[in-house]
Amino acid sequence: MTESTELLTSDIDRVADAIRAGDRFLLTTHENPDGDALGSLLGTHRILEALGKDSVMFLAAKEFPLPVEYRFLPLEEVFHEPPADIADRVVIFLDCGNIDRMPVDFLQNGGNKVINIDHHHDNTRFGSVNLVDVDASCTAEIVYDLSGLLDVQLTPEMANALYVGLVTDTGKFMYENTDARSHRMAAGLIEAGVQVNEIYRRLYEHAPLEKLKLLARALEGISVRDDGRLGVTYISTDDYAATGATEALTEGIIDHLRTIDGTQVAAVVRDQPDNDRAARKVSMRSTDGLVDVSAIARVNGGGGHRRAAGFSTDLEFEEIVAFLIGEIDAQLST
Ligand code: 5GP
Ligand code: MN
Repeated sequence: MTESTELLTSDIDRVADAIRAGDRFLLTTHENPDGDALGSLLGTHRILEALGKDSVMFLAAKEFPLPVEYRFLPLEEVFHEPPADIADRVVIFLDCGNIDRMPVDFLQNGGNKVINIDHHHDNTRFGSVNLVDVDASCTAEIVYDLSGLLDVQLTPEMANALYVGLVTDTGKFMYENTDARSHRMAAGLIEAGVQVNEIYRRLYEHAPLEKLKLLARALEGISVRDDGRLGVTYISTDDYAATGATEALTEGIIDHLRTIDGTQVAAVVRDQPDNDRAARKVSMRSTDGLVDVSAIARVNGGGGHRRAAGFSTDLEFEEIVAFLIGEIDAQLST
């Protein structure tokens, strides 16, 4: 066992102990929650309930409606306000690299014991107890390991939730974070009741037509810059208006941009009409792994993984492109 796996073993034991010791929990994740965020949230909630704990899930009201892909997850019990007894609850953050990714006052004020369970390499370890496993393909994989340690028999609902995290964060088992461990977890989840094709169809084959119309405009707007290194597009409020789509239908559009031959970075810039903190969101992917997009995101107060990261900004689209080109070239010339 290497030193880092030993450290992690004690971290996961410490988190399991903290869960065993607690009675009341509040679970949350990051803003703009994705499949791993929501799957880990719901999976952990049901696991805690199976252990006889009082668990509530929290997401700010502004996160709703959720991306259409994830609306089949039974998240009706999610709270939008802190429960009256919040002071007595242990807060568990899932898939959240830093506390500013959940800009909600009561979660930022430091009044609670915090368990931080995540797989982002730039996690700021803001918890009282931190379990940051950068080798896990998704946070759901860490929750899966925890369920084993806590002797919880996975129900089909828990398995489905964790499977959503696994499938979405591994790009359907195709990204470089996919390994034997993620496939072993998939096997375990299938044995616990996951219907693979049903979840696939729910995630990827229930798109409203407006989503495809928005995708068409986003593809139409692609330009390849920086001598072919960067493929980028811009989804504006005009695109939402022309297609009848909302921002919640932008999920997954970046996956099309990453397929362009020869490009090393894919970026989607989108307007955020409902976000009063920043006008635009930038999502980035590094296809061949030579550019660390999380470093680019951090320059602008964002973060993520080396191959998938993002940040919010008030810059205009062309200013963003100029910034990205500067950062990509700087990284590739060193
Ligand atoms: P996406 O582009 O799918 O929104 O996000 C890709 C990855 O980057 C995810 O792991 C996500 O958590 C992270 N990410 C996206 N936006 C931000 C941001 O504004 N701040 C931080 N710290 N991470 C982000
Ligand atoms: Mn994740």
